[in-house]
Amino acid sequence: MILVVESVPNLIDLVQRNKENGVSIGFVPTMGALHKGHLSLVRKAKKENDLVIVSIFVNPTQFNDKKDLEKYPRTLESDISLLLTARADVVFTPASSEIYPEGDQKGNDIDLGGLDSYMEGAFRPGHFKGVAQVVKRLLDIVTPDRLYMGQKDFQQFTIIAHMIRTLKIQTDLVVCRILREANGLAMSSRNERLTKETREKAGIIYKTLQSVKKYQNTKSVKELEDYGMKRLNIAPFIPEYFTICDGNTLKPIQNINDTSYAVACVAVWGDGIRLIDNIILKK
Ligand code: AMP
Repeated sequence: MILVVESVPNLIDLVQRNKENGVSIGFVPTMGALHKGHLSLVRKAKKENDLVIVSIFVNPTQFNDKKDLEKYPRTLESDISLLLTARADVVFTPASSEIYPEGDQKGNDIDLGGLDSYMEGAFRPGHFKGVAQVVKRLLDIVTPDRLYMGQKDFQQFTIIAHMIRTLKIQTDLVVCRILREANGLAMSSRNERLTKETREKAGIIYKTLQSVKKYQNTKSVKELEDYGMKRLNIAPFIPEYFTICDGNTLKPIQNINDTSYAVACVAVWGDGIRLIDNIILKK
């Protein structure tokens, strides 16, 4: 059985009753259009907690492109069926007015320590302000023992980890591995909008990341980044950035030996859809 909760007071009530009984809570925030990647987070949360709450909320404040917001797939019924198979306990499906009763400008000023100035943040102005705003609001409502997020959105979980640390939020962030399609393409709700042909060809993104990992000790960072950009500049794809950065500060690095934690992050356009991926080079 799965419980669908729409209202914030009802969810707070449910959480409180469970906490009084010593029930541990795992939380998986999503924007819906669920796939196996999301479900892997739910399954992990279920192993590590008594009660798993999944939110489905397409957060308007993190979309810098309003067309992207309009086109974002909404598939609530099938999402709920999938969550049943992954044994989630509660699906929280609030309306925007529940999340932002005082308008969506409030709480949009969380300090991100400059981590939003690179990569996704540079190409999607305001995106991470919106992400931090909604995750903070959801954490205030759900107060989970553990929060589950995917490595797929590397910059996102790094920024949320920073927010949890600086605001001293009482939750453990658990970062989960990236689930991929058979050709290596990172699973994403946006993949549904690719043509079959582009989706097949998009395996090149992960292949390029793997090659960069392989050559990291024999080529300079600049050579690796140039190689990534060049290899992904092949129709129907247009690479937006290919950056090797420090996994903690997200600052671009010049030399892999300058850090003990190096990550290659990439964003690529295909069929007008933006795809992101990353690979940890060393940690
Ligand atoms: P989204 O619905 O895209 O906001 O994603 C919700 C959560 O699922 C985020 O923490 C994502 O990082 C995570 N996620 C998305 N795609 C994948 C994937 N392919 N593998 C694992 N986790 C993922």
